[in-house]
Amino acid sequence: MRVNINFLRARLRAPWVSSRGSVNAVPLVTLRLHGSDGVVGVGEASALGLPDDEVLVALEDCREVLADTDGEPRAEVLAACADLAVLPQAVAAVDLALHDLAARRARVPVWQLLGAEAAAPVLVNATSTAADRAGAAAAASAARSAGFCCLKVKVGLGDDAGRLAAVRAAAGSGMAIRLDANGAWSVPEAVAALRALEPVGIELCEEPVSGLDALATVAEETEATIALDESAALPGALDARACDAVCLKIARCGGIAGTLDAARRARTVGYQVYLASTLDGPLGIAAALHVAAAIRPDMPCGLATLPAFAGRRDPLPAVDGTIRIPVGVGLGDGLTDWYG
Ligand SMILES: [Mg+2]
Repeated sequence: MRVNINFLRARLRAPWVSSRGSVNAVPLVTLRLHGSDGVVGVGEASALGLPDDEVLVALEDCREVLADTDGEPRAEVLAACADLAVLPQAVAAVDLALHDLAARRARVPVWQLLGAEAAAPVLVNATSTAADRAGAAAAASAARSAGFCCLKVKVGLGDDAGRLAAVRAAAGSGMAIRLDANGAWSVPEAVAALRALEPVGIELCEEPVSGLDALATVAEETEATIALDESAALPGALDARACDAVCLKIARCGGIAGTLDAARRARTVGYQVYLASTLDGPLGIAAALHVAAAIRPDMPCGLATLPAFAGRRDPLPAVDGTIRIPVGVGLGDGLTDWYG
């Protein structure tokens, strides 16, 4: 196969603020696999939080293996690349391109390749990353007007209580409010903060603290529903249940196959499962939508993140709080112009 690897630094409309800092642009790596039959599969990985060249170097390590195959058998090619690349983001790009290629060859959408029975629209949450009350309230009103039923608010930023009160007032009583602390708190801080925020009405809190034991303690000591996010990547995270739910991401799980496997393992030990993006481009979001068709997430997914990018038309817009699975074969039609 001919193999093309490209890099893009996609600018955001506004800084994406969390307790871990502020992000203005996202490094995205795309991988094109040109089969000998003329069929082309395209994959992508968001390299959010990594040095720019790390995913590129890891993908370059896979170039020869990919070039020597025609993309099949998919699991074997992916395993060979996973041995070389190690980095889950690079493995994800390969996995997405191989799934796209296989589904295009079979002339079916990826969700069908995964054995899903239907491609129902996926329930998604809006996200507010504003650090001030007015900005957060404006995001909440916008989410409500747009028909979202769940809004995620970053916490651990200071003035959480004031900001959350403003969000609840603007969002109305019907909106599920999801918190994400990105591991900012210590156990006592998390317990105190979650108890203090209880009157606001919280759907769940993602990653209040870092580490499985700490998360288990917070889950035990508060009434709040607690979800793993960053800590889901820790060894053994999905082998025993530390808290209530787990947020899975295509780039961190090593692509579609890795996310399906992680969801299966997580559910086996009793976690509820939902999906989110790492500020992925349309190919990564599409992959997560196809996975959602197969696993049917237990709660709204954090996949409505494409509007965060500046100057690019969103090919997968949320309507009334849901995103449709893209039409067409493979990962879907009309997803690649976005990268141009
Ligand atoms: Mg999170």
